[in-house]
Amino acid sequence: MNFSKCRVCGERAIIDLPRHNANFCADHLLQLCRRQVEKAIKDHEMLSPDDRILVAVSGGKDSLAIWDILLDLGYSADGLYIGLGIGEYSDVSGEYTRAFADERGLTLHTIDLRDEYDYDVPTAAKVTRRVPCSACGMSKRHLFDKAALDGGYDVVVTGHNLDDEAAVLFGNTLRWDVEYLARQHPVLPARNGFPKKVKPLMRLTEREMAAWCIVRGIDYQVDECPMAIGNKHLAYKEALNSIERESPGSKSAFYLEFVDKMSPILAGLNQAAAGELNRCAECGAPTTGDTCAFCRLHERVGGHEPVPVEMVLNKKARKAYLAAQAAGE
Ligand code: SF4
Ligand code: ZN
Repeated sequence: MNFSKCRVCGERAIIDLPRHNANFCADHLLQLCRRQVEKAIKDHEMLSPDDRILVAVSGGKDSLAIWDILLDLGYSADGLYIGLGIGEYSDVSGEYTRAFADERGLTLHTIDLRDEYDYDVPTAAKVTRRVPCSACGMSKRHLFDKAALDGGYDVVVTGHNLDDEAAVLFGNTLRWDVEYLARQHPVLPARNGFPKKVKPLMRLTEREMAAWCIVRGIDYQVDECPMAIGNKHLAYKEALNSIERESPGSKSAFYLEFVDKMSPILAGLNQAAAGELNRCAECGAPTTGDTCAFCRLHERVGGHEPVPVEMVLNKKARKAYLAAQAAGE
């Protein structure tokens, strides 16, 4: 039978990676992923061997994979999962995260928005009349920062991969949003009461992370968040994937060359924007005003009756969500 061979050992390959112009067997795929993470960590001074690391885990492939890779590389890392209250999607994501941590005897901190702050993402979206990702992203950033500082962690690791970062870069570039471009770096140093945050998967794609999980036997939430369907981020990913199909390697060149060549030029702008901040009167978090954005959101949306997920989806997302619900029944 005809099968493609691993570039490294000649054994049967399980994946072809056109951007490396090669195929890899399971062992050498794992080796490639480890090496790419080690390179990102070394090149950008992301982690030190004795850092206390907090991994932001969502239950999806990327965050579970980076937690696994860091442990595999000998780092000591705990996880933090935030229950966002996005219907069945959140329920299943939480189950995968807890199972991963339990099976390996890892420390997993959990925060449930509804239990602890009396709101959830769909309700926040409905009350504020903004897209769900706005309240969601802000809540996650605030709670990860707070948990890292309260827990004495040195650094927060997130599972953003090459596809995510390239899509964000694509959007920022389409608008020439210089402020966002200046901040788009795989390392945000600790400053002004914010913890250090790093993205060690910056050199690896979604497909490679899915393969890592399959080879390592990690079960993860396969479904996209229903709120993401039809959003620009996914459209940018699709656009980049179609360029990548025509010209393998374009996606990584677009993002990694940006980090190497443009980030140093833009760094000055970022520092100029980082002035002294006030402390939030409610929670003490750094803020430009008197009260931080999270406390203002909490004040506004906390205590409202829960809103079902489908109430806050755009038309395309609602159609897909209801069809998936019906198929699952
Ligand atoms: Fe939150 Fe939006 Fe991501 Fe869903 S897609 S988890 S709502 S940021
Ligand atoms: Zn606050």
